[in-house]
Amino acid sequence: MSTLTISDLHASVHPDRGAPIEILRGVNLTMQSGEVHALMGPNGSGKSTLSHALMGRSGYEVTAGSITIDGQELVGAPTYERAEAGLFVAMQYPVEVPGVPVEALLTTALRGRVDFATVGARISHEADSLEIADEFFARGVNVEFSGGEKKRMETLQLAVLEPKFAILDEIDSGLDVDALRDVSQCVEAMTSERNLGVLAITHYARLLKELRPDFIHVLVSGRVVASGGPELADTLEAIGYEGLIAELGIDVTDVAPTEVDPFADPLGF
Ligand code: ADP
Ligand code: MG
Repeated sequence: MSTLTISDLHASVHPDRGAPIEILRGVNLTMQSGEVHALMGPNGSGKSTLSHALMGRSGYEVTAGSITIDGQELVGAPTYERAEAGLFVAMQYPVEVPGVPVEALLTTALRGRVDFATVGARISHEADSLEIADEFFARGVNVEFSGGEKKRMETLQLAVLEPKFAILDEIDSGLDVDALRDVSQCVEAMTSERNLGVLAITHYARLLKELRPDFIHVLVSGRVVASGGPELADTLEAIGYEGLIAELGIDVTDVAPTEVDPFADPLGF
């Protein structure tokens, strides 16, 4: 049993030009192995920024707070160490990596972690259940893949790498009904059989129906403003984010992203 703890996380994005902009303004969230959490929120509320900050993507800077797995601090650690600690992110917009075949990515990631003789069998087994054809293995990662193929490929990486916690950033977007079923079944099997903890970022009731989250969180302007059980998704379906914000009496102007002083000491020491 493992625990992912996100405490008072503040993060800024560094645009190509101009000053950094603070997007996450004190996110708190705790997850245990085997739990399924859903993160919902209006466009631009910081959901993808949270996934990038968790994984340590360049251009996204954590300015305060902490991210731990079983007490091990991940803030400041390089991305591969976060992956080794058990964290995985399926990106909303998976990047294309020309020149790196899918097979090389997966076998290299598994090197030293599983018996070399079983690597091929393990990858093919997962690829079969996601209906990913053999010809994909020789192609560059995500290069010229359709939107749905990219999402299946993210799910294949998840299944092969077997992390402790997976952040799935709109894994359902662009999927047809069959692909949505395959991806959901794979994720559902990993939570029930391999004790994976999931944070699923989504707008769609369909995925929630398939994954049946234990907890729902709502992110508005860089803060989790509401958390609850599955009934919170029904409330959102009925009254929308604006309705929820009004009901909770949240002053959105108070929590709107602001520019941060690039010369300030980020950790406040
Ligand atoms: P969500 O995933 O909830 O829709 P994002 O986390 O993608 O939202 O974005 C949050 C806000 O941060 C948006 O206003 C977006 O335009 C801004 N943002 C994210 N990344 C960058 C970047 N690299 N440069 C400038 N603004 C960014
Ligand atoms: Mg997003």
